[in-house]
Amino acid sequence: MSFSLSVKQEVSSSPFSKECCLRAELAAFVRTNGSMELGIGGIKVRFDVERLDTANRIYGIINRLYKADAQIDEKEYKRLGKKHTYSVKIGDPETAEKLLNDAGVLLKDEDGYTMETGLPRDMLKLTCCQKSYLKGAFQGSGSVSDPKKEYRLEFASRDTDTDSHIQKILHSMDIPFHTSVRREWVITYISDAENIIKLLALMGAHRNLLDMENVIVLKGIRNDINRKVNLETANLKKISTASMQQIEAINKLIEAGIYDKLPLKIRLAADARMENKEATLEEIADILDISKSGANHRMRKIAEYAQNCE
Ligand SMILES: [Zn+2]
Repeated sequence: MSFSLSVKQEVSSSPFSKECCLRAELAAFVRTNGSMELGIGGIKVRFDVERLDTANRIYGIINRLYKADAQIDEKEYKRLGKKHTYSVKIGDPETAEKLLNDAGVLLKDEDGYTMETGLPRDMLKLTCCQKSYLKGAFQGSGSVSDPKKEYRLEFASRDTDTDSHIQKILHSMDIPFHTSVRREWVITYISDAENIIKLLALMGAHRNLLDMENVIVLKGIRNDINRKVNLETANLKKISTASMQQIEAINKLIEAGIYDKLPLKIRLAADARMENKEATLEEIADILDISKSGANHRMRKIAEYAQNCE
């Protein structure tokens, strides 16, 4: 099972909270997965979702809030490029009306129906309800990447109304986000591990949160090892460059016939280098039984001699 499905499953099985929160969660579902139908028998509402646990969640909330029965159908069909397998239907017009009214989508008065564009004013006032709205939006149209591959949690929405609610909530929770457009979808996404963990926590996905933290720890250890290896490789390169330059200088002196005429101390140092091409300066100093700065001095002399014979 993908990490995203695992998180959705955990969110869908989180316990039902207060009624205010359930109303907010359902309002998000109405916007991400809902559609309505006005027929002779009155209004009908339908939620099209990809997963059975999401369908069960919606069914459960409707049951709890309106003491009404919904119907879950299973079928395979495509809608707006997304695959939907389950639909939750409310056939009772009175319940459907009430639900749409609570979600701020439809208002009924003596003149008939009016389409509303915003959420009821107080719906996102409390933090508990804000969290629940995000839970609904995530289950309905969100996804989260496998943390082994990348850090990304996103909410997709088809209308500007929904993404502005999501963005307002994220903003009030100090969670930085980015936006992009993918065909007819507006994507609001979070791309840093710390804030994804924060979101998983507030949506109640604690088991998956721990899994993600473990992945981050392992990645950290791996990065540390890589950093160390890189550092050692860099040191090795530095040593060999210095050694190469010394070897080049010595070869020049040999070619110019100067080598044998060098002061003994310098020649011994040159011999030590030629016999130990991969040795560090400290190792050369050890071989010669002199200090590191002494060895450095002799290597500099070699370079000087080589330069003079050009
Ligand atoms: Zn609440």
